Amino acid sequence: MEKIKMTTPLVEMDGDEMTRILWEEIKKELLEPYIDLKTEYYDLGLPEREKTRDQVTVDSAEATKKYGVAVKCATITPNAQRVEEYKLSQMWKSPNGTIRAILDGTVFRAPIMVKGISPVVKNWKRPITIARHAYGDVYKNTEFQPKGPGKAELVFTDDQGRETRQTVFTFQGPGVLQGQYNTDASITSFAHSCFQYAIDTRQDLWFATKDTISKQYDHRFKDIFQEVFDARYREQFDKLGIEYFYTLIDDAVARVIRSEGGFIWACKNYDGDVMSDMVSTAFGSLAMMTSVLVSPEGNCEYEAAHGTVTRHYYKYLKGEETSTNPMATIFAWTGALRKRGELDGICELGAFAAKLEAACVATIEGGTMTKDLAGLWEGKTPARAVNSLEFLKAVRTELDRRL
Ligand code: NAP
Ligand code: MG
Repeated sequence: MEKIKMTTPLVEMDGDEMTRILWEEIKKELLEPYIDLKTEYYDLGLPEREKTRDQVTVDSAEATKKYGVAVKCATITPNAQRVEEYKLSQMWKSPNGTIRAILDGTVFRAPIMVKGISPVVKNWKRPITIARHAYGDVYKNTEFQPKGPGKAELVFTDDQGRETRQTVFTFQGPGVLQGQYNTDASITSFAHSCFQYAIDTRQDLWFATKDTISKQYDHRFKDIFQEVFDARYREQFDKLGIEYFYTLIDDAVARVIRSEGGFIWACKNYDGDVMSDMVSTAFGSLAMMTSVLVSPEGNCEYEAAHGTVTRHYYKYLKGEETSTNPMATIFAWTGALRKRGELDGICELGAFAAKLEAACVATIEGGTMTKDLAGLWEGKTPARAVNSLEFLKAVRTELDRRL
């Protein structure tokens, strides 16, 4: 087979530890033999971030804005222990945080489903994608503990110096108090990202808040989503036969559990934090969860939802065999290749991505998988637990049969 040609490079963000090892193997085994892989390479591994004083992270995000599609390997977010381990000059910020701040996006997380590993919720037949608004609310709150009786007020001073003042509560004794905010700009970006992703993946979009109780704050979210939908996306949704559906958060929770899946659930920041952990746990494994950051302009950065799998890396360094699951990282690549193909009108790229994904799923469904999945396996024949490289080779065999 002739290698597939690309016209625009993918922004390739390399990473750390075990996922960095897998990254290279995935390219060697599953991509380079079939695609004339064109990437603009950025090394986001911690040593290079230290060397460039984290400029490489900023550059990679700028490149994503320029080209539109990036694929990212998991990276270490330094803590005190990492500063010591890597002899860092400072505790560099989370690369994902830096990239998100530059692209201003929303993160969508979706599980990879295979037969033989079933969700805890038996009626979930298709993936549920969580879209979490990652800005403001309780994550940027201001808190206070009144120690005794007194009046709490909400005061807003506009840029002309005019004050608006409301009583929050008159305390008769000690208690707790909290201030939160969000901005129309951020909520609008969030809405655009969600509608665009729904169109991209041809799935219904659900959104839910507690607007009956929070008649201004949450209601503003509801109104902005509706305005953005009516102004920009209603027609496209109608054309594609997909739906935008708003409901109360309590109602959404009940409906999600009773659903068959196959939709995007947009959540406010806190709801998304909590619900994404619930949904991913119910689907089975963090190693089977993909993640994509979508900016309001439609730029996309694909990655696995898990980290660098440090514990396995230390074993690998000691020469011990590891069985790290490469599925989510492979799907980050296929997501990026498919998107690149769409943007450049290269349908071979999308077709290849689909075949590679199908080969991965078929390998597991055929009983060959990494150790993390073997424990969850409910197939008829016993699982064959293999190491990472054996798994990639099995996928390659399966892929070759399909090409
Ligand atoms: P982690 O790398 O996701 O791993 C946690 C545990 O989950 C692993 O020890 C392993 O369990 C299991 N696991 C995760 N992915 C797996 C896979 N692909 N195959 C098999 N098992 C898998 O999380 P962490 O240990 O909390 O964090 C490690 C580093 O990753 C940290 O430095 C953190 O900053 C970074 N991180 C990066 C990102 C990102 O770049 N997006 C996200 C999260 C964390 P067992 O050990 O029981 O086998
Ligand atoms: Mg959480």
